[in-house]
Amino acid sequence: MKNVCARCPKVMSTSCCEVKPHERLATITWADVERVRAATGLDATEFTEWEWLDADQAHAWLELHPAYRGYLDVAPRRLSLRAVGGRCTLLGDHGCSLEPDARPTPCRIYPFDVETGMLQVERFGDLDEARRLVVKGAAHACLAVEESRSLRELYRAFGTTASRVRDLAAKLRAEVSEHVKRERAARR
Ligand code: SF4
Ligand code: SF4
Repeated sequence: MKNVCARCPKVMSTSCCEVKPHERLATITWADVERVRAATGLDATEFTEWEWLDADQAHAWLELHPAYRGYLDVAPRRLSLRAVGGRCTLLGDHGCSLEPDARPTPCRIYPFDVETGMLQVERFGDLDEARRLVVKGAAHACLAVEESRSLRELYRAFGTTASRVRDLAAKLRAEVSEHVKRERAARR
C-alpha cells in the first residue's frame, strides 16, 4: 500500500479511485478484467461498466488518451471500472483492495503519463489550492504529486522508476491492441 495514497482521501478530500457523478473511472481492457477476475473471483459485471460515446466525445477522449489509439475502432464504447456511490467497487477502507500486480494497468501507471513519462495531473504546488480545486470539481490533483519536489522523488513515493513506468506503458498499449482484437472477434 502506498502510504501517500492512504492519506490522499483525507488530505485532498478524494482520491483517483473516486469520481464525481459526471466522471468515469479508468478505462480498462479485457486483460485487466481477466486479471481482476482471477484475483477476486468477481464477475466482470460487478466491477466494470460500459460507456457509449458520440463522435465528439470519442474524438476528445482519444486526444487526451493517445495510448488508447484504436480502442474505439470496433465500436465507440469504453469499458471502465464501475463506480458505486462515486467509488470504485474495488476500493477498500484503506485504498485499493487488490494487490499491486492484480490492479488494472492504467491504475498502476497513474499519475504518470503514458506518452510523455511526465504527469497526468497538474501540479499546483500548494496543497490548500489543490484541495480547493478538487472539492470544487474544477481539477484533478494527486497528493503524491503535490508533495514531491521532483519527478525522481515522485517515482520514489510510488516505489517505482521511469523505466518501470515505461514498461507499464508498453504493456498498456499491448493490452489495448489485444482488447481491440477481442472486440472485433466478438462482432464477427
Ligand atoms: S495516486 Fe495520487 S491521487 Fe491517487 S490515491 Fe495516490 S496520491 Fe491520491
Ligand atoms: S482498481 Fe484499485 S487502484 Fe484502480 S481505481 Fe479501483 S480501487 Fe483504485
